[in-house]
Amino acid sequence: MASLGRNTFDSESRTPPFPSISRDPEHYHSNGDCILLVESVLFKIHRFHLVHNSIVFAHMFELPLGDTAQEGLSDESPIILSGDTAAAFRALLKYLYAPVLGTQVEAIPLTEMHHIIAVAKLAHKYEMNAWEQWALQFLARRVINQDKIRPQDVQLLHNLYDRLQEYTMRDRIMQSWCRFVETNDLPIGAAMEAADVCGDEESLARLYCIQLGRFGANADLLNPTSFLTSDTPVVHFQRMLAGYCSLSLAWDRFREDPIPYPRPEPWCSPKQHAAQCVPLYQSRWREATQDAERKWPKVTEMEERLSWMDIYLGYHRDAGSESSGGGLEGKCFTNFVMSNKMVERAKKRFYLPAHFFPRGNRGV
Ligand SMILES: [Zn+2]
Repeated sequence: MASLGRNTFDSESRTPPFPSISRDPEHYHSNGDCILLVESVLFKIHRFHLVHNSIVFAHMFELPLGDTAQEGLSDESPIILSGDTAAAFRALLKYLYAPVLGTQVEAIPLTEMHHIIAVAKLAHKYEMNAWEQWALQFLARRVINQDKIRPQDVQLLHNLYDRLQEYTMRDRIMQSWCRFVETNDLPIGAAMEAADVCGDEESLARLYCIQLGRFGANADLLNPTSFLTSDTPVVHFQRMLAGYCSLSLAWDRFREDPIPYPRPEPWCSPKQHAAQCVPLYQSRWREATQDAERKWPKVTEMEERLSWMDIYLGYHRDAGSESSGGGLEGKCFTNFVMSNKMVERAKKRFYLPAHFFPRGNRGV
């Protein structure tokens, strides 16, 4: 953002003040020495605050005087800040003009958060480094690290950290965003859009799962027009449909795959192993998959299914020895369940983004 410089102020496109232009009620200081126009609001402030705090403003005021000598000295010829909102600029001035005590991070109420976000954005744009650090410190210490993100701020925060290229923070915000969508505190469309712009496939996959869950068991997935009623871009439905089909197929394959037969333990003869251990293992596996499907009927609940299978197999690992009078043959199965971590390894097959974003479509 260091390239902003003088062009930011857009002096070429300066237009005479319109009748709708008004003076800011809080920051039109009669003894100020610099008049700025932001949107349709005139601010008369003390140049010192800008020069002292901002590299961009300091450079601007250092430039040799020319045709623009009168700029900023009267309401008729203000310095125009383009691309900013009057509300954001007012928020910045609120802290620039605040007594020191009013700017202590711990003293600021959380209800000020949208003001602080505005300060962070403007401070970044105008290279007010100390103020940018101050705002980010507030957000990190008081909000994000304490999990105090509120639904109404989540979009602003996400946008801020994306602009600052602070991607770890941005992704943490998106996780909160997804939680708010899940609990119906925020609509899903804006979250999908934001995640899509950032190429955040993990979050998109999570959001798609939420939406697929909402369609319920009766959604006519092969006829997507049946749920194209919202203003959600069609690409999301295409991916949801692809993911739904891909996950369903992957589960069918997983369930029907020839099970890698456990090797006989030293005490088990190959004959006995084939006759007892393997069938036992197969039936336990079948029971576990069926039970998982019953308990977690949605294909988007793969992680839950696999975790449940882990529990199921672990719980039933000894049943074989009971039914056959306590012989050792069950031990093959027990040892296999305990050592093979088959379910755990299967989790890779159900990594959600890979299903919603098949390889051919990645990076689009
Ligand atoms: Zn055996």
